[in-house]
Amino acid sequence: MANLLILSLILSLLITTYPPWTNALPTDITNRIRTDPNAIREASSDYGNLVHHVPSAVLYPSSINDIVELIKASCYNHSAPFTIAARGRGHSVRGQAMAGGGVVVEMAALSRNGGGIRVSWSPSLGYYADVGGEEMWADVLRVGLEHGLAPVSWTDYLYLTVGGTLSNAGISGQTFRHGPQISNVLELDVVTGKGELITCSRNKNSELFFGALGGLGQLGIITRARIVLDKAPARGFDVILEELNFVPGLIFRRDVPIVDFLNRVGNLGGGREEVEAHAHPWLNLFIPKSRIHDFYDGVLENMVPRLRKTPGLFIFYPLNTKKWDSRMSAVTPDEDVFYNVGFLHSGGVNEADVFEVFNSEVLGFCEKAGIKVKQYLPYHKSREEWIKHFGSKWSIFQQRKMKFDPKMIYHQDRGFSIRSV
Ligand code: FAD
Repeated sequence: MANLLILSLILSLLITTYPPWTNALPTDITNRIRTDPNAIREASSDYGNLVHHVPSAVLYPSSINDIVELIKASCYNHSAPFTIAARGRGHSVRGQAMAGGGVVVEMAALSRNGGGIRVSWSPSLGYYADVGGEEMWADVLRVGLEHGLAPVSWTDYLYLTVGGTLSNAGISGQTFRHGPQISNVLELDVVTGKGELITCSRNKNSELFFGALGGLGQLGIITRARIVLDKAPARGFDVILEELNFVPGLIFRRDVPIVDFLNRVGNLGGGREEVEAHAHPWLNLFIPKSRIHDFYDGVLENMVPRLRKTPGLFIFYPLNTKKWDSRMSAVTPDEDVFYNVGFLHSGGVNEADVFEVFNSEVLGFCEKAGIKVKQYLPYHKSREEWIKHFGSKWSIFQQRKMKFDPKMIYHQDRGFSIRSV
């Protein structure tokens, strides 16, 4: 009994031990920093369940100012800056929202279930919504529909955060027509790696605006996005088929209200045990149109049938480069039309290797065949691979990184090594 008591005392001491840099923070913010096993465990895992990077602490901000103060504490830390990563809902699959040894900012702590969403109209902008970066697209839809309005560009799954998808691109079946979600943003508030809260748009602080959109969370934390809204279509069927040619006899038609259509995947949030038992070694690729037949023959005809496990869902749709803004950080193939191919593998944690081998064989095949694919939601291990990924955008991305995050606070475990150029 006495031993147990001593053990729990030691444990509670360990749990409440804060990293030394917390001394630089105002006490009310320190109170929102957690180092207990539950907080650390949550921030060390994501939907992929493939990599686990353990942070030293987790911030549950109650205001944007808490984030600003945390970043300043890192910048002016006398020993060395510590790394910081924003975590939306942790729907990344390869640790992109983790900060090994650093601090994870749990953006959900700011969320007020849609309370951070304000719908407005102006003669110059039309209808728009100012949305906290921590809010989920499901809530943007709900609040928008209360006004008969909705964003024009979506993801297939709505329980993702606005800040998280804008850091990638945000794509779905509507993207060919309206562009990705990053093409439908008017303004952002971003907390840079220097701890400055900056409002930016196409005309104001545009370098940060273009850099942060598709910027993989590397330039700052998006705390507000001004999203374009339009009159909400009544039905999902109209949205998809309006501008497509098709053979009439081949239509499979299911006409549903817009909210059911957009929320067709539902909320996948399972219990912790269920999530921890599964791995999601997803691979999302953008494939140039000129090589899509080669990709089909080599991968879908040849490699997929040889997969030893039942594959998960595969997603496949075309995209228009002209709907993307090349000044943004998001990267696409160098052709007018490209295809998104998503291999959404799912299996037990022990089965992940089979899919990982498949993924690397797909990438190897593309490399050998000279198919210049780009990874969506990219994950690369070396600086060379990142240089290749960004292609002609690499130097501008480097410059933006040095300008807005010179101390590499938003470094993460991604093989970025921008400084050693
Ligand atoms: P997280 O995974 O928590 O974070 C993603 C990245 O953004 C990290 O680098 C993180 O540090 C950074 N980040 C998070 N918040 C902020 C912020 N406020 N400011 C700056 N950086 C931030 N993607 C699509 O495009 N279309 C889809 O249809 C789609 N469907 C999906 C369905 C499922 C079931 C899952 C698991 C993922 C899907 N994705 C889709 C991928 C999704 O866009 C990414 O996972 C993205 O990461 C968003 O998830 P999240 O909000 O949980 O962000």
